[in-house]
Amino acid sequence: MAAPTHGTGAPPHVAELLQTLIRYDTTNPPGNERECAAYCRDTLNDAGIAAELIGSDPNRVNVVSRLPGRGDAPPLLLYGHIDVVPTAAQPWDVPPFEGRRQDGYVWGRGALDMKGGVAMMMCAFMRAHREDTDLPGDVILALVSDEEAGGNTGAGWLVAARPELFEGARYAVGEFGGFSKTYRGRKFYMVQVAEKQGCRVQATARGPGGHGSLVHHDTAPTRMAEFLVKLDRTPLPFHIHPVTRMMVEAMSSRLPLPDSAFLRLLLNPAFTGKILRRMSTVGRELEPLFRHTANATIIAGGEKANVIPSEVTVNLDCRMLPGYPPEDLLGELQDIAGPNIEFQALRFAPKPWILNMGLFDTLSGIIREQDPAGVSVPMLMPAGTDGRHFAGLGIQTYGWMPMNLPADFDFLKTIHAANERVPVSALEFGAEALHRLLGRFHG
Ligand SMILES: [Zn+2]
Repeated sequence: MAAPTHGTGAPPHVAELLQTLIRYDTTNPPGNERECAAYCRDTLNDAGIAAELIGSDPNRVNVVSRLPGRGDAPPLLLYGHIDVVPTAAQPWDVPPFEGRRQDGYVWGRGALDMKGGVAMMMCAFMRAHREDTDLPGDVILALVSDEEAGGNTGAGWLVAARPELFEGARYAVGEFGGFSKTYRGRKFYMVQVAEKQGCRVQATARGPGGHGSLVHHDTAPTRMAEFLVKLDRTPLPFHIHPVTRMMVEAMSSRLPLPDSAFLRLLLNPAFTGKILRRMSTVGRELEPLFRHTANATIIAGGEKANVIPSEVTVNLDCRMLPGYPPEDLLGELQDIAGPNIEFQALRFAPKPWILNMGLFDTLSGIIREQDPAGVSVPMLMPAGTDGRHFAGLGIQTYGWMPMNLPADFDFLKTIHAANERVPVSALEFGAEALHRLLGRFHG
């Protein structure tokens, strides 16, 4: 590999970089991130930065690069994924892989999740090199495959097979967070500091089998049906998780009365459900942060149309609040189901739950500099990200792709959906914020 130089020619603008990234169709499955990864590597190389493609599958490689720092702080990891979710059967107004720039936005699959973030990171990283930014410690950039399907060739594989690449890192910046959300006229920047843990549970109902011509009651199918209706109508118990508490307290402290008092009532489990219902749409977005969730996905039972099955199973896609063991969830499900249903945790690979808020004030300070009205708030992510893999190495992820979004822009409704797009001004905001972070992170 050629010795690093300061590169030739002007580096691409963050929006141009994103447009090019979108044009590589990295829909996962199957992913096929190789060409997109090679483009990222070449772009870094053109800027005079060494970068390599690393992976277990030649079609699903990852890009890893490192800028040396002065050694006063542990290395900082920046990571992002270059795969995207499918677009099939969605009503797009623009072709999702054209990478169109129109009306101040870059449109296309991945604009928000998360090629936009990857473009911001690459810009900040290349700028730090170009401007000889005084880096407190090394900065590691990892652009990974397969986040949307589990990280088996991406973050999960890198952490298992090449942990030395991340040695010493204490903090990482990645998805999912950093976007602004306007609530009651105040602008909050959500910083993901924890994520829920996925757990597949199998529910089994048993009952007398028999011939389909006779009268039967209380069979395995009807027992399962009763449980599913109960599960639909009975919320699992509310728990006030420490991260959710921090989020609610930070938001309510910036709101005037009576909004602040109303929001704080969420922290009293006796009122949580009522307040969430009063908050309608916002309440539905917040509810998963207050309890485990369980949704029926795959229903199986019966092999012959004239035989009553003696067993019916249902797979439940469960997401648990971090730090809770699966027995806790299984007990809550049993309380709803009663004795007729058996539960078994099928797939549960708990990752250590870590919470290290040491970098939070630095991030919120940067946001305040760039948007004096912006208030940073810790957030628990209701789904999983690659952060769980890096947590296995003791690395605290901050989901922080800073984006100052218009008040009427619904970030959560736009990701994974048709017409995914990002304001060019938000990309510039994020690239600037990340560059500021590279100059001042600490241990
Ligand atoms: Zn993502």
